[in-house]
Amino acid sequence: MKPDESLTGGDQRCPAARQPEGTQMRIIVDHDKCTGLGICESIAEEYFEVADDGALHLLQEQIDPADTERIDDAVRSCPTQALRIGES
Ligand code: SF4
Repeated sequence: MKPDESLTGGDQRCPAARQPEGTQMRIIVDHDKCTGLGICESIAEEYFEVADDGALHLLQEQIDPADTERIDDAVRSCPTQALRIGES
């Protein structure tokens, strides 16, 4: 039996995991919140790069469906909540 979503708060999966087929998801960075700690880079270095001056560069904005779990991990691991996932 499926749990009542009104009691569980609805679908708890990350936006990337819930993405409807054909929808492209992308990474959104709030540069005002980012402190350049580089945790995201350690999780997905092909998407994130922290420069020598501490600035975060997004190397790839569109999320490859095969990478959704790792990107979700990077988003959840960011200590300043500077990352989120949105639709393109
Ligand atoms: S983990 Fe968060 S604070 Fe650290 S570099 Fe990445 S986006 Fe910035």
